[in-house]
Amino acid sequence: MRKPRIVVLGAGYAGLMTVTRLQKQISTSEAEIVLVNRDDYHYETTWLHEASAGTLHHDRVRYQVRDVIDNNKVKFVQDTVEDIKREEKKVLLGSGEELEYDYLVVGLGAIPETFGIPGLHEHAFMIKNINSSRQIREHIEYAFASYNMDEVKDDSKLTIVVGGAGFTGIELLGELANRVPELCREYDIDYKKTRLICVEAAPMVLPGFDEELVKYAVAQLEKKGVEFRIGTAVKEATETGVIVGKGEDEVEEIKSATVIWAAGVRGNPVIEKAGFENMRGRVKVRPDLRSIEHDEVFIIGDSSLMINEEVNRPYPPTAQIAMQQGELTAKNVAALLKGNNDLASFTPDLKGTVCSLGEDDAIGLVFGKKLYGTSASFMKKMVDNRALFMVGGPGLVFKKGKFKFM
Ligand code: FAD
Repeated sequence: MRKPRIVVLGAGYAGLMTVTRLQKQISTSEAEIVLVNRDDYHYETTWLHEASAGTLHHDRVRYQVRDVIDNNKVKFVQDTVEDIKREEKKVLLGSGEELEYDYLVVGLGAIPETFGIPGLHEHAFMIKNINSSRQIREHIEYAFASYNMDEVKDDSKLTIVVGGAGFTGIELLGELANRVPELCREYDIDYKKTRLICVEAAPMVLPGFDEELVKYAVAQLEKKGVEFRIGTAVKEATETGVIVGKGEDEVEEIKSATVIWAAGVRGNPVIEKAGFENMRGRVKVRPDLRSIEHDEVFIIGDSSLMINEEVNRPYPPTAQIAMQQGELTAKNVAALLKGNNDLASFTPDLKGTVCSLGEDDAIGLVFGKKLYGTSASFMKKMVDNRALFMVGGPGLVFKKGKFKFM
């Protein structure tokens, strides 16, 4: 008789956490574990803004999946998930292979949400993965490197526009604000000619976050030259920049060779293609993290949607929640395998939020305490190192961790 097969899709925070916990909870005689991921490496999505700005090399942001899984217990398949045939309990892969499952864990993450704004797909950069981050870094570097080579100087090459003042946008601005002066020194450019502009449609930076901390963040970034256009929407991205405006009348074009869209995510398109009931590509799940429609399918991380009953709004998509969901999913899959249908419910254990403002500065609310500057920045690095520790233990922290604290 064939052993039950557990297929985990995605080696991000949610998927890797599931697998590294599951491999400790079940034996090879109990089930077969298969992990599918597009690349042979895991990347720290939460560090991609650093790779995009060029303040951290992209190789520091990734590590090999096979280095952190138990290869005797887990079969790793490097392939792209094309579709999930839910009724047949099969996953269709890019290679054409069909993978049958008895239990499925979907941890395919998210993609940027463009809210139908014209031109973003064609003309804006987006932080999606290692390759898109590397493309952004190289594009910016090329724009600065080529500026002085042009007979007629094009100042739009030195203007970077970031769409979105949520956590991703602000963290990216923090890195760029440190990187731009470096680029100026490297390519003999007058720093005064550069512009770093943040365009945000909402009436505030980091909507919903502590106002005092937000004020500090804005002041720090403004000191480093960031211009904020708050309550201003990106209306269109064009070949030469972005059209922004407060209303129909006050419309302006900002000429920029680099527009980076960092204003929200939606679930992986595979979710919609597979026909799961979803809200912007995210699937509402039961308290035990199973899909409402299928007893054998768990959906976790950014692909899932869980309502915070206290405020009647979905929990934000975060690595913190994705990892905790991975841990619980491993426990619940192991329980099902052992014939126990009484599954545990997911309650996020929210320890806090830290938002970096470059390598040396940050803001945070941790265990209810407000943190600024170097103490927040230290905390941010601890959070980053903890994520490595949870998956790969001290060895991975030693190899990839962040130890420059001042
Ligand atoms: P991911 O970690 O994105 O993993 C998804 C995996 O699936 C990837 O390995 C991907 O390659 C793979 N995959 C996708 N599609 C396919 C396919 N079709 N076939 C095969 N494989 C596929 N959260 C925080 O908590 N704190 C932060 O400070 C923070 N900062 C952030 C900064 C940035 C720049 C960004 C972009 C996000 C940040 N987030 C932060 C959000 C956090 O990164 C996500 O919530 C988290 O990555 C979700 O984890 P996940 O496992 O669902 O998805």
